[in-house]
Amino acid sequence: MMYDVIIIGAGSMGMSAGYYLTESGQRVALIDSNDPPHEKGSHHGETRLIRHAYGEGGNYVPLALHSQRLWEELDKRTEERIFLKTGVLNFGPKGNVFLDTVQKSAEEYHLPLEVLTAEEINTRWPGFQLDTGSIGYFEKNSGVLYSENAVRVYRQLAEQNGAELYTNSYVQAIETTADQVTVKLTDGEVKGKKLLISAGKGTNQVTKLLGVTLPLTPVRKTFSWFKAAEDINYNEGSFPGWGYVDEESTYYGFPSIDGAGIKIGRHDGGHPLEDPKKLEPFGAYPEDEQETSAFAQKHFSKDMELKEGRVCTYTNTPDEDFIIDYLLGLPNIVVACGFSGHGFKFASGIGESLARMLTGEALAVSLESFRVSRFNHR
Ligand SMILES: Cc1cc2nc3c(=O)[nH]c(=O)nc-3n(C[C@H](O)[C@H](O)[C@H](O)COP(=O)(O)OP(=O)(O)OC[C@H]3O[C@@H](n4cnc5c(N)ncnc54)[C@H](O)[C@@H]3O)c2cc1C
Repeated sequence: MMYDVIIIGAGSMGMSAGYYLTESGQRVALIDSNDPPHEKGSHHGETRLIRHAYGEGGNYVPLALHSQRLWEELDKRTEERIFLKTGVLNFGPKGNVFLDTVQKSAEEYHLPLEVLTAEEINTRWPGFQLDTGSIGYFEKNSGVLYSENAVRVYRQLAEQNGAELYTNSYVQAIETTADQVTVKLTDGEVKGKKLLISAGKGTNQVTKLLGVTLPLTPVRKTFSWFKAAEDINYNEGSFPGWGYVDEESTYYGFPSIDGAGIKIGRHDGGHPLEDPKKLEPFGAYPEDEQETSAFAQKHFSKDMELKEGRVCTYTNTPDEDFIIDYLLGLPNIVVACGFSGHGFKFASGIGESLARMLTGEALAVSLESFRVSRFNHR
């Protein structure tokens, strides 16, 4: 069988691209070294935030809004939960550059954004106990994505459309010509016309088979769930998703959904991984428990008690912007990687864009900022 597109790495981005490709009638093979969704990549832990006003740069806003529309479309196609509109509060000390960019990007794109003082935040959501001097920006239309559900639903729909999955499969070699790609697996080979590499933290293991090493650093990250005595203040109906940023640190978190507890993670920092396959368990470093506990007790409630923690991986680029481009200047090989801990919210829009890149259709949203050439790569 000659596939139209072979996808190596069927996680957040790859599975979404697989779904959109099959929706437009393409014959697709999805190869993954695990069995997605799973806990060995970057999409587990149940939930991810989607924000529209974007502190990382206003250039992300059109992609965020397009992705939001596509998530809502997916939500309508399934019984599984995909999006929960909790709103998202970005807060921190006044004058912070990230928060200023949130506000500017909202202005530029006419997004609804409420500016709130610490007192107003503490009154509106009694779960917060913010210092005076903090400022908050609340966007009511954003919220929480169920990341594992989304990958599962994309997989189901892609398979219904005829996609074939090669799970727990290891790529040994890749041979390319102008119009054909052969991917050699441990047991057999897969042939196609085009190739998408979207292998998250394993991307360089795949691209090196083509002689390319991209500027990617897999980083070990942790996140934790907390039990709070005043459950009523923190559940999904009464507490928003949130992000905190100051000069030294960035944290993010979620309301308690279905009684799971309040989820909190630290976005900056983490331990770079020498071997992306080796991930030390939660608790291996003292800061795993200490950092989020101290944050929760300072900004939320002294009663916060750690329930559970997990490890996950970010795959960072030097500028923390994504890499989405043709590889080696070849029109039949596309790479999507380096999502630097903030990519999931865009997985719907990026998957759709990747499908369009691979079928030669015009993109709905520009991906110019994500070219690999900014790192002197082809
Ligand atoms: C703790 C945590 C919190 C986050 N919070 C947010 C958030 O709130 N909002 C947000 O937008 N983003 C968030 N992110 C980031 C987001 O989850 C990632 O950017 C996104 O999941 C990356 O998608 P991906 O497809 O590159 O990786 P993945 O989803 O991991 O997919 C990569 C796939 O490639 C497979 N693979 C790896 N190596 C190979 C190989 N050699 N051969 C074949 N297959 C291979 C893997 O098995 C995997 O299935 C968070 C990430 C983490 C870890």
